Amino acid sequence: MTQYDDANIFARILRGEIPSHSVYEDAEAIAFMDVMPQGPGHLLVVPKAASRNLLDADPAVLSRLMPVVQKLARAAKLAFAADGVTVMQFNEPASGQTVFHLHVHIIPRFDGEPLHPHTGTMEKPEILAENAERVRAALGGK
Ligand code: AMP
Repeated sequence: MTQYDDANIFARILRGEIPSHSVYEDAEAIAFMDVMPQGPGHLLVVPKAASRNLLDADPAVLSRLMPVVQKLARAAKLAFAADGVTVMQFNEPASGQTVFHLHVHIIPRFDGEPLHPHTGTMEKPEILAENAERVRAALGGK
C-alpha cells in the first residue's frame, strides 16, 4: 500500500492552508464544492482522519462518514431540485483517483443529463460560491 502523503490538496484544505467553497463541517468531516464539477452542485465529503482512500481507511471512520454523505446528498438534491444524486468514490490512479486523501463525490443528477468529464473544466469562483450557498441553505432548512 502506498503511504499517505499529507501534502495532498485536501489535507491542505483541512489544515486551512488553502481556501475552499465550504458547505459543511463537523467533528469528523468537511464538505466543499468540487472546483471541476461533473454537474451543477458537485461537492466532496472529506473525513478529517487521514487515509489515502477507502482501502486504508479505519472502518470506524467509514461508519461515521456515511451518515454525513447521506446528509449532504439529501441537501444537494434539495438545493438543486435534482431528480437523483450520484455518489462516487475512487481508489488509486487506475480507478481515476487524483487526490490521495479519502473523499466521496456527491453529484446532483437531472433526467437525461450526462455527467461532465471527471476533472474537466474549472468552474467560475462566483458560481461555486453561489452553489455552496444553496447547499448551506438546504442544510439549514431541514
Ligand atoms: P478524485 O479523482 O476522486 O481523486 O477526485 C478529486 C476531485 O477533486 C476532482 O473531482 C477535482 O475536480 C477535485 N479537486 C481538485 N482540487 C480541488 C480543490 N482545490 N478544491 C476542490 N476540489 C478539487
